[in-house]
Order: sequence, then C-alpha cells, then structure tokens
Amino acid sequence: MWTYHPDLLERPVPRYTSYPTAADFVDSVGVAEHEAALDGIAPGQCMSLYVHIPFCEQICWYCGCNTAKSNHVARLDSYLNALNAEIDLVAQRLSGNGRVKRIAFGGGSPNALGPLRFTRLLDMLMLSFRLENPLFSIELDPRSFTDDWARVIQGAQISHASLGVQTFDPELQQAIGRVQPKKDIIATVDALRRAGISSLNLDMMYGLPGQSRAELDSCLTQAIALQPDRIALFGYAHVPTLIPRQRQIDDSELPGATERFAMAKLGYERLVDAGYYPVGFDHFALPHDRLAKVAKSGILRRNFQGFTDDQSDVLLGLGASAISEFPDLIVQNAKNIGDYRRRLEAGGLSSSRGIRRTLDDQRRAAIIADILCHGSADLSALHDGGGNCGQLAPFMERGLVTYHDYVLRLAPEGLPYARAIAAQFDSYRNLAPKVLSSAI
Ligand code: SF4
Repeated sequence: MWTYHPDLLERPVPRYTSYPTAADFVDSVGVAEHEAALDGIAPGQCMSLYVHIPFCEQICWYCGCNTAKSNHVARLDSYLNALNAEIDLVAQRLSGNGRVKRIAFGGGSPNALGPLRFTRLLDMLMLSFRLENPLFSIELDPRSFTDDWARVIQGAQISHASLGVQTFDPELQQAIGRVQPKKDIIATVDALRRAGISSLNLDMMYGLPGQSRAELDSCLTQAIALQPDRIALFGYAHVPTLIPRQRQIDDSELPGATERFAMAKLGYERLVDAGYYPVGFDHFALPHDRLAKVAKSGILRRNFQGFTDDQSDVLLGLGASAISEFPDLIVQNAKNIGDYRRRLEAGGLSSSRGIRRTLDDQRRAAIIADILCHGSADLSALHDGGGNCGQLAPFMERGLVTYHDYVLRLAPEGLPYARAIAAQFDSYRNLAPKVLSSAI
C-alpha cells in the first residue's frame, strides 16, 4: 500500500511533539514568562504534570534522552532536593489553582531512583498540588525492575506503564548497547500486570545496525505475543554529532533509507494485522485501549510524550530539561542537571529557554497536530486560506494528500509522509538539517 518516494522524505523534519519545536526556543524566554504563565492558571483549570528523572542504571548507546548514570546515591539525593524545591516553588505560585488530572514520570528511567525515593517524590507531589483523581503513568527499564517496584506501583495505583524493549534479538541488543534477556522482559510484563497496570506500552525500534526485516518481523511477533495494550514503533535516529554516545554504534551497519521505509511498512502491516489500531504515525493500540478509542473518536492529541489521550491544555514539566506547555507559551527548564540544581538552590525556577506562541503559531500548531493526529486539517484559519499548499503539489501529484474547500486530507498511503506534509505549515523551517531526524 505504501510507495517509497525518496525525494519527498530526503529533507529531515521535526517530530512535532510541539509547535514551534524545541529547536526554535530562544534564551530570552525564561523565568519571568514561566512565572506569569503559572500566575494565569485558573482555579478549575485542568493540568497535567510531567516529572523528569534524568538517570538510568545503564546508558544505552542509541539513546537521545537527557539522562546520566545513576551510580552515586548523593547525586540522586541532590537532584531530588532540587526537584522538591521546584515542586514547592511551582505550587506556591499556583496558590491552589489548577487541578491535576495526570502525572507522568519519565526520563531517563524513573526506576533508577529506587522505590523509597520514588515514594517520597510521590508524597511531595500529592501534598503540593490539588489532585483530582489523577491518572499515573511511568516509564520503566526492565533491567532494573524489582518486586519492590511492583509493590510501589500497586500501592500508588499507577495504571499506565511503558517499557523500553527496542529488540529481543541478543546480537542487536549488543549492537545498540542495551542487553536485556527476554526472560527479564517477560517477568517485568507479568509483574506489572499483577500490580494492576491496565495499559502497558512496549517501545520497539526499526533501523537498528545490522537489523533485517526478518529480524524485525520476529521481534514484533514476540512483542505481540506479550499482548501489550500499546506498541510504539520508532525509527532509530542516528545523529552522533549531537548525541556523542551514539558514536559507539557501528554506522556502517545501519540500514539505508529504502530499507528503513520497508521496515516501517512491515511494522505497520504486522501490527495492524495483529489487531492493533494505528495511532498517528508510530503508535499502535489494541481497540480496548483509551489511545485507540480517542484516535477513533478524533480527539487524539500530541505533546512532548508523543501521541496521547491527555486533553489538558496545560502541561507542567518538572525536573531538568522538562518542558512546560501553555496555550501561548512553551518554556524549558535548564537541561544540564548541575545547572538545574544550582538555579533552584539559588531560590528560583530554572526555566532557561522557550518561546511565546503567537496567534499564527497557535493556528499552525493546530494544523500540524491535526495532520499528524487525524490525517486531516482545516486550513481556513491561515491568512491565505491554503497556507503553503503550493509546496504540497509533489505530495498531491502522487495521491498522498488532497485539498478541497480549505480541507487537507491525507490518503492512507500518505501516512509515512505525514511529518513531511505537516512541515509545509511550519514557518520556522529554515532550521539546520543536522538538528533533525530522518522523516521515516
Ligand atoms: S534506559 Fe531508556 S532513557 Fe535510559 S539510556 Fe536506555 S533508552 Fe535512554
């Protein structure tokens, strides 16, 4: 069903987990703007929290996350002291306003903290914010998952979990610096189910060094056999100039663009055949899962965590490098852990860069999100109605997208081109190509 048009995918494009993207943030937006946005939260405003834990017990070579080795207890404790200080400052600023409907723990690997520190962090959040029966989710590393963690998850009534798997193949695991025996993954899945996790996601990858389509097919078969509620299938983005740890990966073994496209196609077909509903361009969910339900009902959203059923317009990011999103502002905390800690020790928020979203930005953000989440967008809000539709001619000529009465629609075979099509509505598109990843 999908046809490869290399010329349409050769230009690297953002993943659009926000618009404008993090690559467009400026240093002139920081604490003052962040504080003003917090002051503007209304008493009943729904909010989500994202808490970033930038530590892992072992660092995988392919990883592009802001994370470091959790090998010193003092390092974890000093980070948590800073995080508690930030929670306190944000809560004071809110003065009881806002209602927290979701709390997501990501990283890094939140389980690098250990169950006791995590429980204290949870207590701090519960004491500081007005929670309204929130949904808790957590990213976990199966390599450091323990029975104690299962008890904490059950006790805290965490319902959503995401496991980094990437591949079950031992040789590929060696090639990407993430060795985790299949039996450990299965044991973690079983423990999470027993602990009450009702929505379990497995992260899988294609485009790995030395990976073949047969191997990808086998890995997806093994993933499907575990019956996760969701599977996210990402293409590995090799950008060693930006992510030095990726230099450990043998780039001579990486599949080329044609093979990556074939792998993305195989993954899509394999998962859909197995009963998973495609959500956006890289998520798949079983029909009972809320992510599939919101995708079907047209209310799927996209935020810094990817495709989501979260409907809140305000996302408060807590922790080093965490990003907060308000309708007219995006602001990011200091990325460097030491810098983050020092700013909080000095008594202020660490917000160090961001962007004010103009009305035009907000309109374009809605169009880009609609293309990626729903495969269609009403362009009538753009000043010239069609926006940059002239640039879409190569996509239209090949039947990947149609445009009629101001409405742009992706054809089913246009899905792998969704990001490239969305990028036509990005007015910040003079970004240096090297900061972005492959469009497939
Ligand atoms: S466990 Fe996850 S966050 Fe940590 S280094 Fe590996 S991929 Fe990155």
